[in-house]
This record gives sequence, structure tokens and C-alpha cells, in this order.
Amino acid sequence: MAINIKRPNGTEDMLPKDAHKWHTIEKITRETAESFGFGEMRTPTFENTDLFLRSVGETTDVVQKEMYTVMAKETKFTLRPEGTAGAIRSMLQNGLLNEALPQRIYYITSCFRHERPQAGRLREFHQFGVEMAGSAAPAADAEVISLAKTILDRLEIKNIKLLINSIGCPECRAKYHEALRSYFSAREDELCDTCKERLEKNPMRLLDCKSPICKEIGKDAPLIIDYLCEECSSHFESVKKYLTKLGIEYEVDPKIVRGLDYYTKTVFEFVTTEIGAQGTVCGGGRYDGLIEQLGGQHVPALGFGMGLERLLLVMDKQNCDFISPKKCDLYFATMGDAALEKAMELSKQLREFGYCAEYDLMGRGLKAQMKYANKKDAVYTVVLGDNELEEGKAKLKDMESGEEKEVPLNDKFVLCFEDNYMNKMMDMIEEDENGGLLFNFNGEEN
Ligand code: ATP
Ligand code: MG
Repeated sequence: MAINIKRPNGTEDMLPKDAHKWHTIEKITRETAESFGFGEMRTPTFENTDLFLRSVGETTDVVQKEMYTVMAKETKFTLRPEGTAGAIRSMLQNGLLNEALPQRIYYITSCFRHERPQAGRLREFHQFGVEMAGSAAPAADAEVISLAKTILDRLEIKNIKLLINSIGCPECRAKYHEALRSYFSAREDELCDTCKERLEKNPMRLLDCKSPICKEIGKDAPLIIDYLCEECSSHFESVKKYLTKLGIEYEVDPKIVRGLDYYTKTVFEFVTTEIGAQGTVCGGGRYDGLIEQLGGQHVPALGFGMGLERLLLVMDKQNCDFISPKKCDLYFATMGDAALEKAMELSKQLREFGYCAEYDLMGRGLKAQMKYANKKDAVYTVVLGDNELEEGKAKLKDMESGEEKEVPLNDKFVLCFEDNYMNKMMDMIEEDENGGLLFNFNGEEN
């Protein structure tokens, strides 16, 4: 019987032809985070289920509907639905919060949520995330938002809006919860079943329910921003002041409450209308109570998560630049076993210098080998046969111009190859009218 197993719904395969896109995003997020003093952290793909119940919150969509949980022997484990919980668990377990504060960490990681798959909404997706622990200062909020903005700018993503809000502290929220309860109980019968339950336990969750009827009912609900205590209100004012100072445009959206329970005070999202309904590319905020909730001391903290598949959708849509994919620098077309061995030896040398070298592994004839080299877009080729081996030299062919140059088949080979490569590079450099240098790849104008 033929086996026909497909990948699970809502997951994606990343193929080598797209690797350079992922590498671009990974490189820029890493470099930018490190320029802000953040260091990389890697945590396990699964954690004890309790960690997410206590942090993400029992009345959230993520916990109620979206977690992948397995029972292994006596213990319940969950594939991480987000990065913050594991990162904070790790900071606590490894004593990072006893070291110099603020602690600044970042991660690039896969997340798992059992959602209805659609464009920009997957069951396995990837996040770049950061967490900063130790600072209660509004300047820290501005710093973290600024890091996200710098990444989006360096990726050259346009038409993206920063929305911010403050959802206060437990003190302002107590009064707000009362206001929400009395607002929603007037139409309690119409709410979805999940929200009926949430009304008592956590009425703010009603505001990010995805059901159309709950959304409709919630349209005129009271706004948290009208219930902020003095401390929270002045914190929010300072965050806005610093954002303006940093030249970061924002819009206050009093409807943002975020889908995870641990947030306090500042919450924010970067959104675009260019990739359909799933337009939130980045979401984050402050979570001053979380570390205590997970058994640590009171340490204020904040962070964000950026959805990498959504970033990629926007970048493709906007034709953003990616770092060029690695090409085959030199292909050896070989005839006979002695030539193959020579190709092996020379390839080893080239690879040590960082070039990509390939030779035939399929037992193909010369013509078919050249066809393969063309398909792989090889920059140079060398034909190696008995004659070349005997004479100790061969012809290096520039595949674009067709030009050929004689090169020795000894330890000078790499030097000659490099020399050729440099010449070709120099041909692509022109001087502009101010005496500056212009790179002129593929003969296109700059
Ligand atoms: P949404 O409202 O779109 O469901 P969320 O509030 O659940 O988002 P967060 O938990 O804040 O999302 O996750 C941070 C980021 O991760 C989101 O802004 C988004 O870019 C990305 N993300 C979240 N869920 C998914 C998913 N299922 N597929 C792809 N990306 C996702
Ligand atoms: Mg969600």
C-alpha cells in the first residue's frame, strides 16, 4: 500500500529556496537585539503544563482552547504556546534575577497553538521575542518598543502602525472589572459559553473574544484607560513622552487588552493592513506581577513577541530586500575517477576559504554536468579531464560572460580563483560623480 503522509494542518515546511529570507530575519533580529544589550536564551520546547496555566492564565483562549498537551507517565507537559513563560521560568531557575538588572534576553523559537489555520495563523509558528526584567521605569517600556521598531525599520517594513494602551495594575483593574461586569451582565444571555464563564472570573477576557456576537456586544464597553490610578496614568504619560522623544509615532488604542493574562500597564501592538485579517505582526507589554506569580520576588518586567511568518508575509508583499542566497561559486565538471579525486582535493581547499564548491556525484556525462551547473547558477566552472590533469592546468570559465582563464591545478589554484573572483567584483564597482563607489550587480543601475 502506498504511504501518503502529509504534514499536519497548520504547519509549514521551510525549503532551501526560502532559507535566505529566514536568515535575513534571524540576522537582523539578532543583531538589533544584541545592539540593545540583549543576549540569546534557549529553553525547552515543552514545559510543565502548570507553568502556562499560572502565567498565560486559565481564562485565556490560549489555555482554554489552543494548547497542545500530552500526558507523559504521571506528568502533564505542554508544547510552548508563547515564549515569555519559559523565559521567566528559566531566569528564576538559573538565578538570573540575582545578577545585574535589568536582565535582557531574546529568543527565536517555535510556538504551538491549536487554532483554525488560515493565512498568518498557523498551529506551529515562529516568534522572535525579548524579555527585560528588573526595571519599573517607563523608559524601559520605551526601550523595548524602540527595539521592536528598530527591527521593523531595518527590515524596511513600511505602513506599519504602533498602537499602545495601558491596562493598569490590579488596583485600577478591580474597579474596571466591576464596571465591565455590570456592562456585560445586561446581555449575559447572548454571550458565548466561554464568555459567560469568564464574566465572573475575568471579565476583561470578554474584550478579546473572537466570537462576532461577543465582539458586537463589547463595542461600547467601558474603557480601562478611564479607570487608571494615578501611578498607572503618569507611567503611561511618561512612556508616550519618551516615544515622542525617540521619534516613534504611535496611536493610543484604548481597546487593546492583549490575549494573555499576565500583562499590566503598557500594552502595544504593531499592525499592518497589508496581509489581511491577521495583521498583528508584534505584540507585547509590561507584566509586573508575573515573576512573583511564578514564585519569584516582585520584579517588574516586560517584553514582546514578533510573529516571523507574518513578518515574512509583509516583507514579500512589500518586495523588501533579503540577503542574497548563497550560490555555487565553482562547479567542477569531471571526466574519470582521477579528475573526480582532483575535484575533491580542490573543493576542499576552496571550502576552507569559505567558497561553495561542487562536483558531480551522479556519474553524469559532461553535457549533463554543465546543465546541472547552469541550473545551480554556478558563477564559475572548470572542466577536469585527462588532458587537464596531465598538463596540470585547466580553464576557469566565467559562466555569465563566457570568458575563460587558464589556472594551475596545484596549491596556487585557490589564489588564482580568488584573484578571478576579485576581478569580477571590481568590474561591478563603478565610481559615482562624487568619487564614491557604487556596486553594480547584474549590470543594473543603482
Ligand atoms: P492574535 O490576536 O493574532 O491571535 P495573539 O494576541 O494571540 O495574536 P501573541 O500571543 O501576542 O498573539 O503573540 C505574538 C505574535 O505572535 C502575534 O502578534 C503574531 O504576530 C504571532 N502569532 C500569534 N499567534 C500566531 C499564529 N497562530 N500563527 C502565526 N503567528 C502568530
Ligand atoms: Mg491568538
